[in-house]
Amino acid sequence: MTATVIDGKAFAAKVRGQVAKGVAKLQEEQGIIPGLAVVLVGEDPASQVYVRSKGKMTAEVGMKSIEHKLDVQTSEADLLALIDQLNNDPAVHGILVQLPLPDHLDSDLVINSIDPAKDVDGFHISNVGLLGTGQKSMVPCTPLGSLMMLRDHHGSLSGMNAVVIGRSNIVGKPMAQLLLGDSCTVTIAHSRTQDLEAVVRQADIVVAAVGRPQMVTGNWIKPGATVIDVGINRIDKPDGGTRLVGDCDYESCAAVAGAITPVPGGVGPMTIACLLANTLTACCRANGLAEPEGLTV
Ligand code: NAD
Repeated sequence: MTATVIDGKAFAAKVRGQVAKGVAKLQEEQGIIPGLAVVLVGEDPASQVYVRSKGKMTAEVGMKSIEHKLDVQTSEADLLALIDQLNNDPAVHGILVQLPLPDHLDSDLVINSIDPAKDVDGFHISNVGLLGTGQKSMVPCTPLGSLMMLRDHHGSLSGMNAVVIGRSNIVGKPMAQLLLGDSCTVTIAHSRTQDLEAVVRQADIVVAAVGRPQMVTGNWIKPGATVIDVGINRIDKPDGGTRLVGDCDYESCAAVAGAITPVPGGVGPMTIACLLANTLTACCRANGLAEPEGLTV
């Protein structure tokens, strides 16, 4: 079997198009422009790239992009004061603090100081609790994007066996909650799971969020299963330079799976699209307006 390639780049462009339409409608009918504030502390090169690309795409869908770049030495008190200011700014509907933060800052404290209604990353403890209890919340972007692709490909996920590899708070756990919400039978595997291959072989849906290049190989995959590869890993090329690969060995998995997301061009582009979708959703909720359909769970 040769797997259907789930094109995250094209899907993300479609989601951004829907967001742009929603933003234009808000502005036309209500005179409201959704605003997304991104806070970056320090000069981590990867974070700078993410923030730049978030800012560009925010502007492209017609939203206001507000960037706060703070010195690496910024104190916790100063960062919390900025978040308080953004929480109280009616022009700001979404707040994202770029992680990782420098070591002297307590990430949990910082994230939990964001107004949960503006927590477009969905990492605030209130949103985690709401998601876990099946209530309306802000849903973390990477799992949300992954779920959108799965729903688009399969329609209903009800009754499917899903194995999520990885138990992080930002990907693995919320992904498992979302799949459970869609009535999958969910297994969360992790670094201490015994006989991971056998666990993965039971899965109709495999979501790999590990951070280990090409760890999952085709012989782990049940024929016809859907593989969502969240991993982003940079490896050396034999002839010099580097390239990006996922947590799944693409060639061997694609030979067995029914559908698969590539890296790059799979889950990655969906993450930023869902950040924009969450900002639009937050803005609609803040103004007591109907949420655009299909952009959240
Ligand atoms: P993390 O390091 O927080 O978590 C990794 C998880 O993998 C842990 O729960 C650990 O138990 C598990 N794990 C580690 N080794 C394992 C093994 N040998 N077998 C089974 N499980 C194992 O990572 P994360 O933040 O969840 O990110 C995971 C990957 O997803 C990374 O490659 C990251 O770059 C990528 N990522 C991509 C996006 C995106 O937009 N596509 C967003 C977030 C993260």
